[in-house]
Amino acid sequence: MYFGRRVYNKGVDRRSLLLFLPALHAEAPKTALRGKLVPGAIEQDGGKRVTLAGEDDALAVCNDPRVIGSDFEAEGKMRADGVFEVAPMWQAPLFVYKGGKRLFVTYWCDVCAIRTYTPGICWCCREDTAYEPRDRKD
Ligand SMILES: [Zn+2]
Repeated sequence: MYFGRRVYNKGVDRRSLLLFLPALHAEAPKTALRGKLVPGAIEQDGGKRVTLAGEDDALAVCNDPRVIGSDFEAEGKMRADGVFEVAPMWQAPLFVYKGGKRLFVTYWCDVCAIRTYTPGICWCCREDTAYEPRDRKD
């Protein structure tokens, strides 16, 4: 059925295609993994949990109680052992979705006007930084 087939193709979820790609290549290309953030892992539709690995700074975000429970996305590579390796933090690879928008996970010190990508204290004034998802990097 010509018409029906067109409709079907249009409905293919782009995200499913991205997740399928790593299985086709021994050396996985950079991809994105999206789902609900649970401590140190992303829970996908159906309840499958993919453990996250990466730099300490990335894992600090993935275990931040303020971020846990979010509609979350990490860029990186799916390893052969099924663990998702988050890309280096200088690439700002972590996002949350809010109101249909993809936002960078950032942290902000109001006192010093300094933005970081890792939770914790401000390196300048040593006060706690505020969690502030944002639509651009700088
Ligand atoms: Zn500060």
